Amino acid sequence: MLNCAAFRSRIAHYISGQLQPSEHDAVEAHLETCKTCLIDVTAARLIPAESDMHPVGEDKDATREAEDSAVIKIAHSIILQGIQEGAAEIRLEPEPRGVRVCYSHAENSNDSLIVPKYLESPLIDRFLKMASLSSSQLQQPQEGHIPIRSNATNYDITLATVPLQDGVRLIIRIRF
Ligand SMILES: [Zn+2]
Repeated sequence: MLNCAAFRSRIAHYISGQLQPSEHDAVEAHLETCKTCLIDVTAARLIPAESDMHPVGEDKDATREAEDSAVIKIAHSIILQGIQEGAAEIRLEPEPRGVRVCYSHAENSNDSLIVPKYLESPLIDRFLKMASLSSSQLQQPQEGHIPIRSNATNYDITLATVPLQDGVRLIIRIRF
């Protein structure tokens, strides 16, 4: 069985599909047992490039734990894509297989990705934390602000939570 260090030396090849076929089973077996590496692989697949976006006033070194930082990257990339597309609204809808992320523009709405189910609760917690909202009050609607700085521009972003029978819907609104 591979350990994490051995897995990480193969992760780039695994993600790009260039892993030796003989190593495939060992890598898949490690992913089945190691949530930290699985989250890293998911983050790498969802996020092609690093960005300079960060929440204003947040200590970037405060959360360095591997699992957290992958979830943070996913949350940031969801907002960054909204900014880049000029989307007025991003909706995160709970579904049986994960969280569907939809970007709304003036005339249409695009489904862009499904974040896998095992990331649903860490991702929602991350967005709530960014907006200084409480995860213990999801049965009530809440609204908060996420101050974001990207490419030398400040954006005022609001996060609204909508309680649903099977989870919570998050609505992120970006004012340009
Ligand atoms: Zn691992």
